[in-house]
Amino acid sequence: MEAARAALCDYGRRAVEERLVVGSSGNLSVRDGDLVAVTPAGGRLERLVPADCPVVDLAGHVVDGGRAPSSETPMHLALYDAAPEAGAVVHTHSVFGAVVASTRAVLPAIHYNVLLLGGHDVRVAEYATYGTPQLARNVRAALAGGRQGALLANHGGVTLGRDLDEAFERTHILEWLCEVYVRACGMGPPKLLDADELADVERRMGR
Ligand code: 13P
Ligand code: ZN
Repeated sequence: MEAARAALCDYGRRAVEERLVVGSSGNLSVRDGDLVAVTPAGGRLERLVPADCPVVDLAGHVVDGGRAPSSETPMHLALYDAAPEAGAVVHTHSVFGAVVASTRAVLPAIHYNVLLLGGHDVRVAEYATYGTPQLARNVRAALAGGRQGALLANHGGVTLGRDLDEAFERTHILEWLCEVYVRACGMGPPKLLDADELADVERRMGR
């Protein structure tokens, strides 16, 4: 898992540089087979070295590393369980994601790029205290049906991908959609794409 741990450090640094997280918020993981490398609980993501990142099995038991795994490890493991093709999970407290998540209302189809997250909108997982099994269940439900991104009520966002690069790119898309939505709402209620218009784009994308 050495390459996975090194990648967590690289993407953790990027997440801070790009203001997707501040302080010790946010967490990332990479799955390889039955093992998951995850950022440590309370870790400043821009300061991580590979040895800081514990490796856990799919039940959450630490199999390598001296630091406690992220408090959101139950959420990461629940998402791997639900999506066998997923190889990475990225959870951030990005500004526009947190703004939209505070409405506890779905992020609607403000732009056709919403399809890049696997649905006609982005669901907001019901609120639960951070790090709890209930939050893990709520986020899993928000991603049901093959979604690759969701918001967490009054908290932030989460994306998954085959690898960290893909999961991180989806975090960019999610944050961009949220920013466009928030800015558009400042000009009055935006017009949204309807199901036919979205289906047309899906056909064009070959889905
Ligand atoms: P950890 O530092 O335990 O990863 O928690 C940060 C966080 O974002 C909780 O939701
Ligand atoms: Zn969080």
